[in-house]
Amino acid sequence: MARRQEFLPYALPLIEDDDIAGVVDSLKSDWITKGPKTLEFEKEFAAYVGAKHAVAVNSCTAALHLALVAAGIGPGDEVITTPFTFAASANVIIHTGATPVFADIDPITMNIDAEQIKAKLTSRTKAIVPVHIAGHPCDMDGILALARQHNLFVLEDAAHAVYTQYKGRMIGSISNATAFSFYATKNLVTGEGGMVTTDDPGLADKIRVLSLHGMSRNAWNRYTASGSWFYEILYPGYKYNMTDIQAALGLSQLAKLERLQAVRRGIAAQYNEAFGNMPELEIPVELDYARHAWHLYVLKLNLAKLKTDRNQFIEELKAEKIGTSVHFIPVHLHPYYRDTFGYQPGDFPRAAETFERILSLPLYPRMSDQDRLDVIEAVKRVAERSRS
Ligand SMILES: *Cc1c(COP(=O)(O)O)cnc(C)c1O
Repeated sequence: MARRQEFLPYALPLIEDDDIAGVVDSLKSDWITKGPKTLEFEKEFAAYVGAKHAVAVNSCTAALHLALVAAGIGPGDEVITTPFTFAASANVIIHTGATPVFADIDPITMNIDAEQIKAKLTSRTKAIVPVHIAGHPCDMDGILALARQHNLFVLEDAAHAVYTQYKGRMIGSISNATAFSFYATKNLVTGEGGMVTTDDPGLADKIRVLSLHGMSRNAWNRYTASGSWFYEILYPGYKYNMTDIQAALGLSQLAKLERLQAVRRGIAAQYNEAFGNMPELEIPVELDYARHAWHLYVLKLNLAKLKTDRNQFIEELKAEKIGTSVHFIPVHLHPYYRDTFGYQPGDFPRAAETFERILSLPLYPRMSDQDRLDVIEAVKRVAERSRS
C-alpha cells in the first residue's frame, strides 16, 4: 500500500496573494490587453536577463516563430535543432516554411551537441535553435563558434532557462535572440505567455510589429489621449501579443523569482543527495560552466541494473501516489516527423536511448518538506524492489 494518501502532481504553479493583487489591479485599470503593464514587464525582464530589448508575446512557441520570421528564415532554408525537445521547437521551423534538421545530443546534459551540429551543416543552413533542456545551459561557445564561421542566426529556446547562466552570463543576453516560456508549468508563469530577448533593435522592432498584425502602431499608441487613429500594415503579421492581465502576473512572479529558484535548488540538492549513491539511478549534472534553473529534475534509470523498464517504474511511482512525467518523447519519433521525413529511432540514437531511461520527478516551490521526503522514499522503494 502507498504511504501517501493524496496524489502528488509532477508540477503545480505557485500563485500567491501578491500575484492575485497584481492581476486584480490590472482588471480594474480599464486596460486589459497589451498596454502599460506589458511594457513594464518587458523592461523589467530585459533588465533581469541583461538584454537590450524584450518583446512579450502569448507563448514561447510564438516567440520562437516570430524570431525566425523576423530573421528572414523561410522556404528553402534549413534550421538545425535538437530532437530531444518539446515539439514546438521544431514545429515553428516548419511554420516558417523552412526545414528542420536534427543534430543528436550530448547524453550527459541531454542538450544538442555542437559536434553533431557541425556534421549537419549545408549551404542551406541558416539558423541553429539550441534548447537548454531542464534548465541546464547548452555548450554555447561551441554553438556560437559554428554560427560565426558559417554566418548563422542563433535562437535559443529558453523555455526551461529563465535564471540559467552560462559561464556567468544570463541566458537571454548571449546569442541573436532568446525565447522564454511562461506556460503554467514553467519556473515563471503567466498562465500562457512568452518573451523574446535580443540586443538587436531592428530585430526587436520587427518582432514587435509582427506580433500585432504587422501594424505600425499598437492599440496603446492609438487609443490613449496622446494617440492617433492612423496605422498601416507593414507585414501580414500575427496575433501573438501578451495581455496586461498576463503581464501583471509576470511582474509579480519575476519579483520573487530568485527566492523561488533557491527553493528549487534546495529540492534538487536533496534529491541528488538521496539518489547519488544508488547504482540503479543516475542523477542530473550541473557542469562547471552552468547555473542550472532546475526547471525539471530528470532522473535517468540504469536499465541494466533494473528488471523493470521506465514505463513500469512510472506506474509503480503512481501506485505510490507520486506523479511524474517524461521530458521528452524525441521529436523524430512522433508520427508527423517520422512519416514526413522517414526517420527511424536510430537516426538520433543518443536521443532515442536517453528517452527510454528518463523520468521527471516533482520539483516546484509549493512542495512541502513532507512531499519531498515522500518522493525520495517512494523512488528508493521502487528502485530497490526493481533491482535485477
Ligand atoms: C514549454 C516549451 C515550449 C513551448 O512553450 P509555450 O509557452 O507553451 O509555447 C517550447 N520549448 C520547450 C523546450 C518547452 O518546454
